[in-house]
Amino acid sequence: MNLPDYRYKQLLDAVFRQHTIRFEDMKPLPKELRGKLIEQFGETVIGIKAIHHEKSTQTDKVLFELPDGNRVETVGLFYKEGWNSFCISSQSGCAFGCKFCATGTLGLHRNMTSDEICDQVLYFMQQGFTINSISFMGMGEPFANPNLFEALRDLTDTELFGLSQRRITISTIGIVPSIKRLTKEFPQINLAYSLHAPTNQLRETLMPITKTYSLDLVLDTLDNHIRQTNRKVFLAYIMLKGINDSEKHAEQLIELLFRHKKYLALYHLDLIPYNQTTVAQKLTPPSNKCIQAFCKVLHGAGISVNIRTQFGSDINAACGQLAGTYNNKSEKGETKMLQEQEKSLQWLLCPVCKNKTRVKIRDDTVLEKFPLFCPKCKNETLINVKQFNITVIKEPNAKT
Ligand code: SF4
Repeated sequence: MNLPDYRYKQLLDAVFRQHTIRFEDMKPLPKELRGKLIEQFGETVIGIKAIHHEKSTQTDKVLFELPDGNRVETVGLFYKEGWNSFCISSQSGCAFGCKFCATGTLGLHRNMTSDEICDQVLYFMQQGFTINSISFMGMGEPFANPNLFEALRDLTDTELFGLSQRRITISTIGIVPSIKRLTKEFPQINLAYSLHAPTNQLRETLMPITKTYSLDLVLDTLDNHIRQTNRKVFLAYIMLKGINDSEKHAEQLIELLFRHKKYLALYHLDLIPYNQTTVAQKLTPPSNKCIQAFCKVLHGAGISVNIRTQFGSDINAACGQLAGTYNNKSEKGETKMLQEQEKSLQWLLCPVCKNKTRVKIRDDTVLEKFPLFCPKCKNETLINVKQFNITVIKEPNAKT
């Protein structure tokens, strides 16, 4: 659509500063233009639909339906310290078939477009969440999707999402050509390499990609990334009981990392106790004692290592557990119902932090009391609508 510059700026302002996603609500734009935008793009700027939510204490897992009915999952992680991190998907399904991963069992349905990738972030922004960081650790291998780089451009564009490269992390199983491209085009973006085994022989049994890109080949590429960028690289090691968790494996891991000793100071290893999924029931996490012992051996060799605590495993939102929980058929009834609910969202003020945070509920709530989670002050409040005398603000532009 051919818009004059000032109109385009108004549109960007509405989406990225006011967090207004429905064209109809973009009041600075003339009615006629709003109508044309709706005609061309539909009701909202977001092209993916949230069709299911699962929440736990600090986690919100959202199932999105893409325009062609494929599905992906996105996870919001809300840290008590006030940090919001979003784990986003890059592909519906995945072709790489890692043995411990729920997504890998789906096969690849398709790559997400750059807009669909960014829409996951836009969705949470529009919900009132501050986006402190995002990680490509949802469904799919980001470096296998050629649309990733366009998405990174949009996410870091100061006129659009305006995220600093340092607030973005890409987790990869080690696709060497794409790592090299990232080094050149986005040198400040964080890289996390999914190691998960200390030898090629063992890794091939867990992650077939190792036959194409061996451990040392990927680590050489990462060494070069460190040399060029001086940025820390994260190594992830999912701990699987009886498979990669012995002291011998720890010694082999030390040998592997010491072959890249020159840059060892800028590698950090995260040990991740395996999160069980229904798709790989034979795999289990080792005991805490075993993980501690493994960690101690590595620590003793001077490797920067820690055991990563995770949340979200109770709703299958932790590392390796995302599988588009609901089968891939479009459940039209469910989608329609949620679309209707989206339309009926009302904007309210949080009763705890008063005028400081906008929160929203559905206006079809029939209960007198309901739990309300405020993304800003992090309080979950049992709201009694009458007691708090909540003011309904029709416009989503309420002062924050
Ligand atoms: S771990 Fe990553 S690359 Fe491997 S199957 Fe799962 S999503 Fe795909």
